[in-house]
Amino acid sequence: MATHISRTQTTTPAAEAAREVVSYDPATGEVVGRAPLGSAEDVARAVGRARAAQKRWGALSFRERGAVMMRARAVVLEELEELAALISREAGKPDAEALSMELVPTLDLMQFFARRAARLLRPERLGIGLYRYLGRSSTIEYRPLGVVGIISPWNFPWAIPLGEVVMALMAGNAVVLKPSELTPLVALKIGEVFRRAGLPEGLLEIVTGDGSTGQALTEAGVDKIMFTGSVATGRRVAEAAARSLTPVVLELGGKDPMIVFEDADLEAASSAAVWGAFANSGQACASVERCYVHERVSAEFTSRVVAKTRALRQQAGEGADLAAMSSERQLATVEEHVREAVERGARVLAGGSRPKEMHAGGTFHEPTVLAGVDHTMMVMREETFGPVLPLMNFGTEEEAVRLANDSAFGLTASVWTRDISRGRRVAARIEAGTVMVNEVLYTHGIAQTPWGGVKQSGMGRTHGRLGLLELVAPHHIHVNRLARLHDVWWFGYTPEAARLFRSLARRFATGSALQTMLISPQLLRRLFDKRRGA
Ligand code: NDP
Repeated sequence: MATHISRTQTTTPAAEAAREVVSYDPATGEVVGRAPLGSAEDVARAVGRARAAQKRWGALSFRERGAVMMRARAVVLEELEELAALISREAGKPDAEALSMELVPTLDLMQFFARRAARLLRPERLGIGLYRYLGRSSTIEYRPLGVVGIISPWNFPWAIPLGEVVMALMAGNAVVLKPSELTPLVALKIGEVFRRAGLPEGLLEIVTGDGSTGQALTEAGVDKIMFTGSVATGRRVAEAAARSLTPVVLELGGKDPMIVFEDADLEAASSAAVWGAFANSGQACASVERCYVHERVSAEFTSRVVAKTRALRQQAGEGADLAAMSSERQLATVEEHVREAVERGARVLAGGSRPKEMHAGGTFHEPTVLAGVDHTMMVMREETFGPVLPLMNFGTEEEAVRLANDSAFGLTASVWTRDISRGRRVAARIEAGTVMVNEVLYTHGIAQTPWGGVKQSGMGRTHGRLGLLELVAPHHIHVNRLARLHDVWWFGYTPEAARLFRSLARRFATGSALQTMLISPQLLRRLFDKRRGA
């Protein structure tokens, strides 16, 4: 029988007593299923199993690991419809978005890392400048870290953890994954997919639970933590990790700006703004949360945005453009931002509240367009993480850049212009991890490109080669082929040695072979003296 409850908390006292988290469909409030509430002991046991399993896995070739990955990919394809339905139900998003924003990108990511990890992590010989003339060489190999802890949010319950699981496993690690308490069933499905693909036991441990389970993972002695979530929790994770010097990657919030210049294609830019702000009900870290429009085209751009927003279909189930928000708590934040903006003089051009006719237990908020906003309002400063698109005018390129950079966040940004060189010029001045020209939101879906932010949006990267490098330990081996020669800088600090060191500072340290040749008699004399034991 379906249970209807408002989705504020999944670990209610009753659920806590039963040591379980309850998963709800945010569109209807119905219970989708239940999952264990993992304790610190459960986390410790999972880390132990993962550590034991990693030894053999880390020694396999990329080809062998890639074969498991491609089998997992085949399982995903086989179960595509069921997976889309589960993601859609548990996260409250349209089926279409479960496919386009979660499943399609991860299928691509799986084949990319299965096939390319070997090349991306192949051992390298490093250029070491003039030291090579001293018979030296340096190589670097990338070794697995061991056990990677992944803590993931609810907004992309499949794509975010799965992408990181794939990269961590391909790099030779084992994984302990702690998903959000709002979306445990999708995470358990990730485990099932890999089990069916024949991934050896222990390599992917999924510990469902709540914040306390996540906290236990930060204290469980894993070798790295990949955290995606809010700034507040990210700070707690970083503090806990610092105590044991566990490295962390933090993928945090955003307040991403979109700049629309007067020469932009307004038809495309207005559709992009509407999709970028309202896809996933605005619950994407890279959603368009601030839109700056050149004053010459502001009226036309705004009327297109408003018309397109009003045409969106918001409902539960098939055919929806937007569905529900993830939780009552998230909806309350959106309402607060809109209310405060309106109190301070903003105008609601579309939407503005919960829809009048919607399922009683559902957490819906209308796609909302605001004008007359400014940077004193919460809606322009704090992460709204909901379907709200505030529009603000600018007059000059300088002003647009200043407004875009006037934020504590720096995840992504987007610049719209037909003049690509202007697009690149402005992009270069924006403080963000990724700046797109004539695009919004989507580069998390490109497996080859790095994802991550600056400022409060986090540290470190996921995806692409830079993301893969976060999941390995660089192992540097330095060889001296002229083992019989003593180094000129070893003991025996005679006055001649001191003179040679001064020459090294002036000549050798320029990096120039020619300059170094000028001091070769001094160098050879020192080498010869040291060989004689002088
Ligand atoms: P939260 O920070 O609330 O939670 C993220 C994860 O951390 C969840 O699994 C949560 O568990 C867990 N957690 C909670 N408390 C702790 C703790 N003390 N120690 C360790 N883990 C803990 O974020 P949301 O789930 O609400 O996600 C939304 C946020 O994520 C937004 O700010 C968004 O911008 C950001 N985000 C960033 C992305 C990026 O790539 N930069 C991508 C997607 C989202 P539980 O849910 O069970 O409490």
